Amino acid sequence: MDRPLPILSLPVREQRYSCHGCGNCCKDFTVQLRERDLQKLREQRWEERLGEPVTVEFRDRIWLRQREDGSCVFLQEDGKCRIHAEFGFAEKPTACQLFPFVLVPDETRTRAGLSFACQSVRENKGAQLSTHLAELERMSADIPETRRATDVLLLAEALHAKPGEIACLEAVVDVWFSRTDITLRDRWDGFAWLSTSLARAQLRSVRETRFKDLVQLLASALPEELHQLGVDRATKRQSKLLRQGVFARLEDVKISSAKSKGRLRVVLGQLLRSARFSRGKGVIPNVAQGFLEGVRFEVVAASAPLSDSPDANEIDMLFSRYARAMVLGGRAWGAGYYGWPAVRGMQALALNIACTAWVARARAAKQGRSVALISDVEDALGRIDRAAGRAPWLGAVGERVRLDYLRLDDGLRRILRDSI
Ligand code: SF4
Repeated sequence: MDRPLPILSLPVREQRYSCHGCGNCCKDFTVQLRERDLQKLREQRWEERLGEPVTVEFRDRIWLRQREDGSCVFLQEDGKCRIHAEFGFAEKPTACQLFPFVLVPDETRTRAGLSFACQSVRENKGAQLSTHLAELERMSADIPETRRATDVLLLAEALHAKPGEIACLEAVVDVWFSRTDITLRDRWDGFAWLSTSLARAQLRSVRETRFKDLVQLLASALPEELHQLGVDRATKRQSKLLRQGVFARLEDVKISSAKSKGRLRVVLGQLLRSARFSRGKGVIPNVAQGFLEGVRFEVVAASAPLSDSPDANEIDMLFSRYARAMVLGGRAWGAGYYGWPAVRGMQALALNIACTAWVARARAAKQGRSVALISDVEDALGRIDRAAGRAPWLGAVGERVRLDYLRLDDGLRRILRDSI
């Protein structure tokens, strides 16, 4: 067998992480089990001891069973995991051990990306990331596909990346999000402009050195170019696409409720909520277990953009850290994002931020505020990143069409400038 790929710790120096035991991931995530996990659970004899099933079959896969409120069947009242408490960390299912790390292989190495669905990651609390390497090495033995080389990455649609092209994009993104002389709004407007410009370019005839020159040229024109290329507010159609993107990221049917209600009722409920999100009028329908309960669409639309927040600097730092972690941790495209080409992955990252800003403003509105604070943005980013690269429908044709529309008429720039 080939030697496993080496693991590369996330090269975002300021990012920290240690688990602080908030238990949020155990109250929320559906955990798919592998054969090795099932074997461990059988050896631990849970079903005999608890007198109830601890797994559930859904759509031909086996998952950890959740309670009605969506929490894991092993989550104890003290917020700790019962498997961890009785058998130790290494005896939990692999996905539970690995979270919030996301192992993404490419041709030469496995990148250790991070999920911002974890509170400690968002709040940047804990140890240096390199201190987790030995544990990642151990855990990845149970998921060998994360240590196997993948095919060459795509740069754009049906266009394999040539040596140095992806590294050039990564370097430009890293520098752009590390600069301290850019405002929050210009930073995301600039990123949307860069990604849209690359998506429009005929990259087939601009390869290797010429591609690198093009990217450098575009990046060097920022942010001055933005002021020459002002954009109007988002059109109704673009705002509707944004709300649809938000719905696609928030909607999450728990296996327990899908089983108890039946497939038809669940699908009908989803269609109704999706239609209400598209209309954007009245009260926001119940999504993500009441995350935005009671808020009116009109109030969100009238709320201030994030740049007006007293926490705008903190929000900028969080978003910049997130963007660099996504790109340098392999979660923005390729195996970490539905196998997508880099240029489309950049657009998806911009849309994820626009959706986060919308949800943050809705969270603020829920508290009766017209401007979002860093806590609203952290909550929103946790929700949005939870689905990024994970929810199958975000890698499907509907999302691709949404991004294609938003590429036209500066759609991405407009929705970002309106909300940020
Ligand atoms: S969300 Fe993060 S900090 Fe909280 S329990 Fe899960 S891994 Fe630990």
